[in-house]
Amino acid sequence: MAWDRQSDKARQRLQDQLVREQVRAVAAGSAYWKKRFADIARPAATVTTVDKLGSVPAVGERDVSPTGDPAAMAALVLHGGERHFALHASGPTLRKALRKKAIRSREYPRIVARETRATSYGWTGLGFRYPVASTRGDLDVLARTGARLWSVIGATADDAMVAAVTPGSVEHEALHYAALGAGSPALFPGVDPAEVALAATLAPPTILAVAAPAAAELLAALQEAGTPLRQLRTLLLIGAPSEDERAAARRALAEVGAAGDAVVLAAHVPSGGRLLWAECRPSGGGTGLHSYPDYDLVQLVDAETGEPTTDAGELVLSQLGLRGSALLRWRTGDLVASIDHAPCPACQRQVPRLVGVRRAALVVATDTGRPLDLRSVAGALAGRADLADWRVVVGSRARDGRQQVVVHLAPTSDPGEAAVGAAADIRAAAGMLPSQLVVAEDGDLGRLAGQPLTRRMLVRR
Ligand SMILES: [Zn+2]
Repeated sequence: MAWDRQSDKARQRLQDQLVREQVRAVAAGSAYWKKRFADIARPAATVTTVDKLGSVPAVGERDVSPTGDPAAMAALVLHGGERHFALHASGPTLRKALRKKAIRSREYPRIVARETRATSYGWTGLGFRYPVASTRGDLDVLARTGARLWSVIGATADDAMVAAVTPGSVEHEALHYAALGAGSPALFPGVDPAEVALAATLAPPTILAVAAPAAAELLAALQEAGTPLRQLRTLLLIGAPSEDERAAARRALAEVGAAGDAVVLAAHVPSGGRLLWAECRPSGGGTGLHSYPDYDLVQLVDAETGEPTTDAGELVLSQLGLRGSALLRWRTGDLVASIDHAPCPACQRQVPRLVGVRRAALVVATDTGRPLDLRSVAGALAGRADLADWRVVVGSRARDGRQQVVVHLAPTSDPGEAAVGAAADIRAAAGMLPSQLVVAEDGDLGRLAGQPLTRRMLVRR
């Protein structure tokens, strides 16, 4: 059955099976997950379905590396040898390997290494940067899902891409393997507009991939440089764009003399992940990011409490069938309005679609220059007996426009003690203090101005 035409029932059955295989592999092969399953007293063998995995508490990068040390993220990498391979390889791969083993072929150790050894790394991360590992088998998955991405965005082998993305990033790796998987030429000149202009002149792109916040500026620079963009039919915004970024990109695209049917589409790798999800061409970007249900399990949690939710919430990702760095119930820091399981009204693909994604919304820059993880702040405030209520307000300081984070507290008893206690817990959980702590009356908190990120976390422009 095609990956994008499975009934709900068939998809659930497949995902249950893949969850069992993945949890077994991850619990056996990764130092972090071995300890984690022991800590929560949930033997991996009991996690046999999507629903059961959904009740495993979600974790993020700060849970694996509380100090933000990138080296600690290596605990997510699966270390397996021949025994792991025999336990976790898929049936056909295993049968082929065992035939090679029986005839003492040198190909046998190669097949084992292909599935178990991390060979390739891409950079990712929210509060800090860290590398995620891929095995050769994982890179095959990147190529396979990349070929699907090509079809989702309405591209063919005749398309040619110029990708202005950061070298070494997971986005770079995903686009590289997507072009390989689709059989399309692709150039990766880096993010310097002069280099991108040179590449686009040498090989006029039909697809231009660029980080969403940089798209409008890059197009303006290419126009200025006289770069021919007549063949450009897909502007691929990498990172779920905000409405402002999308609108600016559309305006810029209209200015550069692109092909008549040119569209702006988004593609996104959530933090920690490796597979690139895209919006479909027939939708013109209106129906959300299309995921790959045989490799991704997408769920939501309440961003303040980390508890499972079916409302808008933080995207939690479990990778199915990837064997380098392993993500299970991974808090991505992305806020999502909803996960739509109905067939896409534009392209009819029956895959979970992520609608209304706000990338990395839960980790913000502060006036110290260091990113602050709002999930840690909320975790330190949620459920405190000495607080009746609280709010976190993120915004620019009027004086100089620098980003700051103000925590408003409504204590139940002694305000001084409650503020000191909350501050200490925020420091312990988030690694730093907010810009300001304000003690307020309970009733005043509901009147604070700002766009709600979650119920208690607000953004001010
Ligand atoms: Zn679609």
